[in-house]
Amino acid sequence: MDRKKFLLDENEMPKKWYNILPDLPRPLDPPLDPQTKEPITPDQLSAIFPKALIEQEMSPERYIPIPKEVMDVYRLWRPTPLYRAERLEEYLDTPAKIYYKYEGVSPPGSHKPNTAVAQAYYNMKEGIERLTTETGAGQWGSALAFACNRFEMECMIYMVKVSYEQKPYRKTMMMLWGAEVIPSPSTRTNSGRAILEKDPNNPGSLGIAISEAVEDAATHDNTNYSLGSVLNHVLLHQTIVGEEAKLQLEIAGDYPDYVIGCCGGGSNYAGLALPFVRDHLEGKEIEFYAVEPTACPTLTKGEYTYDFGDTAGLTPLLKMYTLGHDFIPPSIHAGGLRYHGDAPIISALKHDGIMKALAYRQLECFDAGALFTRVEGIVPAPETSHAIKAVIDIALDCKKKGEEKVILFNFSGHGLLDLGSYELYLEGKLKDVDE
Ligand SMILES: *Cc1c(COP(=O)(O)O)cnc(C)c1O
Repeated sequence: MDRKKFLLDENEMPKKWYNILPDLPRPLDPPLDPQTKEPITPDQLSAIFPKALIEQEMSPERYIPIPKEVMDVYRLWRPTPLYRAERLEEYLDTPAKIYYKYEGVSPPGSHKPNTAVAQAYYNMKEGIERLTTETGAGQWGSALAFACNRFEMECMIYMVKVSYEQKPYRKTMMMLWGAEVIPSPSTRTNSGRAILEKDPNNPGSLGIAISEAVEDAATHDNTNYSLGSVLNHVLLHQTIVGEEAKLQLEIAGDYPDYVIGCCGGGSNYAGLALPFVRDHLEGKEIEFYAVEPTACPTLTKGEYTYDFGDTAGLTPLLKMYTLGHDFIPPSIHAGGLRYHGDAPIISALKHDGIMKALAYRQLECFDAGALFTRVEGIVPAPETSHAIKAVIDIALDCKKKGEEKVILFNFSGHGLLDLGSYELYLEGKLKDVDE
């Protein structure tokens, strides 16, 4: 009998994160100081990040031990299950095998606490009492609020205004965990005030909210800033997903031909994919697909160049695929995929041809998410449905070619706090916004 899910015991949880930096075919282009155009020094980052994370950002070590205190919090929901999507396979009538790593079992409902917990821990250890951050759809804000609550820290969240209004329940979750949440652009910061002066109805964007959170952290001594995606250390913390998936696929007796994930800043996809990229660099044949919305087509239509991480131009310049730091994407419901850039690691792998990217429109992704819910029973976040759309297309292609391929994707989060968007979808009120 085929098994539905593959579980690891708590004591089988990987004890190390995988750092791809020493294994990359060429070194990453360094982040640059926007004024001098010289590589930034660790000192410059210490105004807003703790030493431990700055070290991880540039670490030459292939594996980095997960602190016991972080493992203790992970154990609340990790290891996460690996599922076989057998009913989806049956529905599609495909010879392909489809597996997904289900990150929706965390308290905030996504992969994001994998890094939030680690970041809160390292900050707490270095005496920081308060963290600031931005959040789009609210998943990152709720992950950091949860993590700060675990280590008894204060949490200040600048939430993109359009999401603050569209997704009120995540705001409530953040507040239940003890965080302060305000809509961005706000009047709390110089960058927020400057934007509101020009356009009082500005719907906000991740880039604007980042500017506000960074400014807040840089101007308060007891406060650091915490970023939910993009940076090397964030991707590092997410690799526990792929390390677990490898062990679980061994139990299943399979190895992936395709590794797929939705891509906003790139962290959930990197978390699943990077441990397999390591195998690929050693000769395994695997195809990697990062999936994004056509409304914010960073990898498929962006330029590979140095750009700011935020709208106001406060952050170092990162070498990445970007749509321009002043790009404000349409208000699609996959709020977590509305970032103008992408992780430098993912960008480099895409640029060097190791990864490929696909883009889909909003409606076809909701169709895929609704289909998945009907056949598999779990409601995916609108972000996750982008990965599912790609998986369905590839599984149908396998059917056409009669190929028994193994497809693995990251189910980055559940959609139970996105039912407002699904309601609009069911009522036929959702539109494709990019044409
Ligand atoms: C935040 C989020 C994403 C996108 O962010 P990445 O850094 O690209 O992973 C995708 N899915 C869910 C459920 C999210 O919460």
